[in-house]
Amino acid sequence: MFEIEFTEPSHAACECCGAPSTRLTRFVTRNGDAFAIYRAVLTHGPRHPRAEMIVGLGDWDEAASPEDRVAFIFQLWSDDSEYKVGIIGPEQTAWPQGMLGRLLTREEALRHPWLQHVFDLSDHIVAHDAILTDYLDHRPGSAPSSL
Ligand SMILES: [Zn+2]
Repeated sequence: MFEIEFTEPSHAACECCGAPSTRLTRFVTRNGDAFAIYRAVLTHGPRHPRAEMIVGLGDWDEAASPEDRVAFIFQLWSDDSEYKVGIIGPEQTAWPQGMLGRLLTREEALRHPWLQHVFDLSDHIVAHDAILTDYLDHRPGSAPSSL
């Protein structure tokens, strides 16, 4: 059973096109244990039809380091009837190497034994992360009112 801890979103202008962009950071537990951290960049405007996602999985013990974790990079979008998940590689994204874990290439991610965790978690995300689904469904609530 996943549980998502929501934090306040941050807003900025997209570096490539100036469109309003929202960043989310979420902490996920499974059966009470630290399980994952995911981040999302939700940019409006024609250049950005998909949510840019990264999820780190692995050892979240304080003694662990980012090398004890791996990060899957993917995009989320809606095609009217359902949400889609597309695994991509580091060369297709602006996500930097960081605390979430070593960035997996697309080939590594697709062969990885934890890939199913990513799909299970993304199912949970689109059922519970309202800011994200407002963006995916093009509802106005997802646009930052200050921009
Ligand atoms: Zn842009």
